[in-house]
Order: sequence, then structure tokens, then C-alpha cells
Amino acid sequence: MNAFELADLLFPNVTMTPQEAEALYPLRTLPEGAKVTRVAPSPTGFVHFGTLFPAFVSERLAHQSGGTFYLRIEDTDSLRYVPGAEQDLVDTLSYYGIHFDEGPESDGETGIYGPYWQSRRKNIYHVFAKQLVQEEKAYPYFPSDEELAALKQVNKKEENKHKDWAAQAQAAKEAQVARRTAWMETAEKSIAEGRPFVLYILADGDGEKKVFFTDLIKGKVEFPENDEDFVLLKSDGIPTYHFAHAVDDHLMRTTTVVRGEEWLPSLPKHLQLFRYLGFKPPKYLHIAQLMRMEGTSKKKLSKRDKGAALADYKAMGYPQLSVIDYVFTLLNSNFEEWRRANPDKQWEEFPFSVKKMSISGALFDFDKLNDVSKNVISRMTAEKVYNGVLAWAKEYDPDFAALLEAQPDRAQAAFAIGRGGNKPRKDLTVWADAKEYMGFFFDSLYAVQDMYPEGFDIADIKNALQAFTASFDPADDQQTWFDKIKEIAASIGFAPDMKAYKADPDAYKGHIGDVSMFLRIAVTGKMNAPDLYAVMQILGRTETLSRIENTINTILS
Ligand code: GLU
Repeated sequence: MNAFELADLLFPNVTMTPQEAEALYPLRTLPEGAKVTRVAPSPTGFVHFGTLFPAFVSERLAHQSGGTFYLRIEDTDSLRYVPGAEQDLVDTLSYYGIHFDEGPESDGETGIYGPYWQSRRKNIYHVFAKQLVQEEKAYPYFPSDEELAALKQVNKKEENKHKDWAAQAQAAKEAQVARRTAWMETAEKSIAEGRPFVLYILADGDGEKKVFFTDLIKGKVEFPENDEDFVLLKSDGIPTYHFAHAVDDHLMRTTTVVRGEEWLPSLPKHLQLFRYLGFKPPKYLHIAQLMRMEGTSKKKLSKRDKGAALADYKAMGYPQLSVIDYVFTLLNSNFEEWRRANPDKQWEEFPFSVKKMSISGALFDFDKLNDVSKNVISRMTAEKVYNGVLAWAKEYDPDFAALLEAQPDRAQAAFAIGRGGNKPRKDLTVWADAKEYMGFFFDSLYAVQDMYPEGFDIADIKNALQAFTASFDPADDQQTWFDKIKEIAASIGFAPDMKAYKADPDAYKGHIGDVSMFLRIAVTGKMNAPDLYAVMQILGRTETLSRIENTINTILS
């Protein structure tokens, strides 16, 4: 039996030729230098925070160059498939501003390079598998019933624990030699019996020799040539990642493959496959895994670590823009500088550059994210903050949302305090902080939470509050208002300014800051609160005074 006859027997239903398949995927007409990139996730239902890194890099490379960015669902592993995971992924990425030009949609798909689900591309893989068999670059192996059962059951982790790697490698080599010819005798019979087969590549590499290539981020890298006959099609006819990658990225005309560094060692296999298939390989950019610090050592940010699940960021109340700015901060070393110079620009306007990416990868760190998020929120208008907090609260704190909606003007005025100008306040890290920060503006959340610190005479506190009540006029400008508090301070033996106090602390019972604190606790219930003058302006005369009076009559009585 020659190779053509074998190919026909193995793939009796494949009538399409590789040329015909190629014709279904015409070369893309794009401007010179335009890149075609993709995100190719396995729909396991878990979207890792780290997904954003290759996704943003791919998105930027395509859209910055006038190219195309598409989504391909790598759902060949039916055991790991979670229904609805692809929609969830599309929604999550779109929430962070990542939009695809082509790919699966809720009611079908967009683009002519599909199907964009690998599970629907079996016939296409088989066209090229057949070609490889015809050209004697691939061969079948018909596993025995026991081997088939074992293939299904293998618990790799458990198996690997007990492995003697050297013996294993030797055994694999011997098995490979045997496998290369095993099929010849039995193929006809096995096929006639309808036995499933595994399709192996016939590797032509020499493990003693090196293959070199240039990764867009890592530069020149070298690996031993591939001499391992790896699997192209599993016994159910489904392709392995390696085979699907070569066929899909070629046909879908991907110019640049951005993916995790864990695929780097497989590159010799992929380059071999592209050569066998007569395809021009794409450019590759391998991104290092996202790490975190544990003590002094770096660890992978793994699924169970806090911060690993992208879905959690919404619940934690991080604005999308905070997450985006944080990712760009980690992706490009000059992003922060650019952001400082361009506080109002969209991230799409940032000149993203692969050259500015770190080879060793990014370190995930909540402190840094929080810092970025504070800055992002501080640059927003009060209206934006209100909308962000409200949207968050509707989902995660409906009672608070109801308060915000009942008094939108008051809430926005509260968020406006200290906003704008060169040095905006940075009180909010996440939307979830809003309640603690400004909840006291709502009567139902106002309560004197912080006790008056010890060391002050209650009579002094009361006197200060009463004097303030007598003199308060909401029509006063900030200076007049403050001058009155200074007067009150002096009248009860507190220093009216800090300079005087510092020069002779023993001469006073306290200072102007203490008197302001007496008022702040009464009016906001807290030691730390936004600018008290602004707070009183928003609360108005009646509420301000009733809170003070209430404090005198309850807490201080
Ligand atoms: N499905 C692969 C993964 O989830 C994709 C790798 C790639 O982008 O080629 O790791």
C-alpha cells in the first residue's frame, strides 16, 4: 500500500484538497505592515487576570497597525469545556475594552475565516492531515484496546510523580522506532475493522542539532531540533494544540502569534509542522507568566491566588480603567510617564511598543494596582465617579445604591469635593470605598463612629460645639468660616494657629486642628473626612446643626 492509498483509507471522507482549503481563506487585503493577531483561549470557564496581557498586546499590535484582531475558541478538549464560557470570556474582555473584529458572537460569528471554534473545524484539519500522510510526513498508529483505555484514563500528574525520566525517555525512543513501522502490517485490517488511530508526525529533526529563531520579545532563542514524533490527531480525530495551531494560524492568516511563554519549548515542533505543511510561519511573541512575590521569591500567580480571577476585579470595585492602566503599566515601562503627561487621553492613544516590554515578565502586586486605581479615580469627574459607584452598588450593595439614587445631587456634590485641579484627592481606590468615604452624607448611614480621643475635657468639646452652633452661617466663605473656628479655639484656650502652638505647646490645651476635629467628628462621625467646609455646605444649616446638637446631647452628655 502506498502513501496515497493509506491516506485515502484513513480519510475516506476528505475530498477537499489543501489548495481548495487555501482558497476558502484568501490572503487578507490589509495595509502594508498591518498585523493580524488573535486570542485563542480554551473555554474552561475560568478567565485568569493574566489573560489580559496577551490579549492587550494582540489587540494593540493589530489595531495600532490597521490590522485585524480575532478570537478563536480552542475547544478541542471536551472534558474541560464549560458551556457558555466563550460568551463569558467575550463579555469579560469587552468589559475591559478589548473588542474583536472577528470571531464567535452570541448568535453566530463574524468574519470569513471561520469557523472560529476549533471543534467545528475537524474536516479542515483532516484535509491537511491527509496531505501529510500522502507525503509520508505523518503516519497512523492503531492503539490496542488496552492502550485506548489507558489513553482515556491517564492521570498525568500522578504518573509523572513516579517517573524515572531517563528510563522514560529511552523507552519513548524505542517505542517511537517501533511505532514508525508498526502500522504497515496492520493498517489495512485495522482500518477495515474500523479501529481508531492516532496520527503521528514523522519527525525529521536531529536532537543533537539546534534550531534558531527570533522571538519578538525574547530575541534570538535556540532549541534542539524536534526528533519526537508527536501526535497530530488524537484517536477521536481531534487535533492536538500543535496541529490546530499550525493549520488555523496559517489559514486565518495570523501574522503574529502572541501567547504564553509555556509554549516556547514547543516551538521546534511548530516550526517543523509549518515546514512540513509548506506554510510560512508567523512571527511569535511569547509573554512570560505573571508572577507574584512570596517573601523573597517569585511565584506564578496561580488560579487559587487572590487576584487571579479576572471576574473578581469587578466585584472588588476596581473601575475598568484602573485595571487597564495597571496592565499597561506592567506591559510598557514608559506607560506611567505617558499617563502623567496625558492624564485625559484614552489608553488607545498610548504608543504601545513591544520593545518596551520586559523580557522577564511582569510582577503582580495589589499595592501597585491600588496606587494606579487611586490615580485613575482621582482624575474622573464627580459624575463619572457617581456613575461608577452606583453601577457597582446596584450589583453588590443595593441598599447603598438606593441611597445614591435617592439623593443624586448630594452624592455628586460629595464626590466633587477636592476633585479637579492639580492635586486632586485620592480617597477612593475602588468603588467599594465610597460608602466608607462619603456614606455619612446620608442620614441613615451617619453615626458617630469615632469616639473623641481621650485627653480632652468634655466641657471644652461641648463649648466649642456650642460656640460653633451660635456662629455658623452657611453663607460664610471658607476664610470667614475658618476665622470663626480660630476665634472659638482661642476662646476655650486652644491655639488658633499651629505656629503659635508649636512655639509654646504648654501654653495651650490644644490647637486649632483639635477644634476642627471636634466638629468633624460631630458632623461626619469620623476623624477622617473630606474637607469640612465643603461637607457643611452640602449638608446645609439644618442638618449640620442638628448633627452637632445631637452629638452634644448624646455622646457628650
Ligand atoms: N489555547 C491555548 C491556551 O489557552 C492558546 C495558546 C495560543 O495562543 O496559541 O494556552
